[in-house]
Amino acid sequence: MKRILVTGGAGFVGSHLCERLLHDGHEVISLDNYFTGTKANIEHLMDNPYFEIIRHDVTMPFFIEVDEIYNLACPASPIHYQYNPIKTVKTSVMGAINMLGLAKRIKSKILQASTSEVYGDPEVHPQTEDYWGHVNPIGIRSCYDEGKRVAETLFMNYHHQNDVRIKINRIFNTYGPRMDKNDGRVVSNFIVQALKGNDITVYGKGDQTRSFQYVDDLVKGMIKTMETGDDFIGPVNIGNPSEFTILELAEKIIDITGSKSKIVYEPLPLDDPMQRQPDISLAKKNLDWEPSVKLEDGLVKTIHYFDELLKSESK
Ligand code: NAD
Ligand code: UDP
Repeated sequence: MKRILVTGGAGFVGSHLCERLLHDGHEVISLDNYFTGTKANIEHLMDNPYFEIIRHDVTMPFFIEVDEIYNLACPASPIHYQYNPIKTVKTSVMGAINMLGLAKRIKSKILQASTSEVYGDPEVHPQTEDYWGHVNPIGIRSCYDEGKRVAETLFMNYHHQNDVRIKINRIFNTYGPRMDKNDGRVVSNFIVQALKGNDITVYGKGDQTRSFQYVDDLVKGMIKTMETGDDFIGPVNIGNPSEFTILELAEKIIDITGSKSKIVYEPLPLDDPMQRQPDISLAKKNLDWEPSVKLEDGLVKTIHYFDELLKSESK
């Protein structure tokens, strides 16, 4: 049994990670300031004596004795991370410094939840880990993209300078139950719109692409990354290579829900990447990992979750 700290543990991905780690027999501590996460996401874990929650902001130093740290604390949807961009940069950068300082002191392993956003609007397709990216450093997405890029820099520097045992995952678009229905991300937006019979808001022409990964696949990939030996640090892409246009996603969701919603077109947000698809050769080779959940199957589970949520809210 290991003692594991998950920052951002009350968020969408963090709550699934805490659940999985507890299921695997570990002691888990969730650290969260509840900016975008909620206690409701982890309520079902509260009775477990091996689960603990701590309200704390990663921009402030924190001390605890653990074997492993998963650093997920950071708002992830464009609406949330653009709400207070200075705070978003602080969370990524000061959060990384505080958690790396902790890992250095207690000699734990530490994994960074980095992102495909480090590739920006990519000119290389699919994206391999050796691609340096195409990011606008002063655009509206830069607080998130550049914050995550500096966090990767800090991880590498703490590793080379102080021998900290790091791992870096570059996570591609992930969806599933417990996404925040109001965070504006495309999968939750389209599902909620379809279930309510509202218009489905496709930004631009809908010809931009994303590759959607179901959350269970991501959690398995993160844990496999953490379990690698000290000679493997990444960065390693964790995503599902099946690529779809946003219009195809809208049509799939209409089809599965049987909704009468109509597709409407709205302006494309600034700096919205046109294409995104992970090359996962490195993950296959070093982690023996690849995603197994097809988009249709993951969408069915996610639609079921939102359907139940909307019904319970309307009672
Ligand atoms: P989320 O917003 O649901 O979760 C983030 C969690 O971090 C929330 O619980 C939030 O309250 C917490 N948090 C934010 N700022 C904090 C701070 N200063 N101190 C302490 N806690 C703080 O987002 P998510 O989708 O679960 O993403 C989790 C991580 O994975 C993020 O680091 C994100 O950048 C990364 N990621 C996610 C995706 C995706 O598609 N979901 C893709 C790439 C990377
Ligand atoms: N998008 C859309 N309609 C929506 C929400 C998002 O067409 O209601 C588009 C958005 O412009 C982007 C893609 O869907 O091209 C993915 O957006 P999301 O915010 O989920 O993630 P990210 O842009 O960070 O990959």
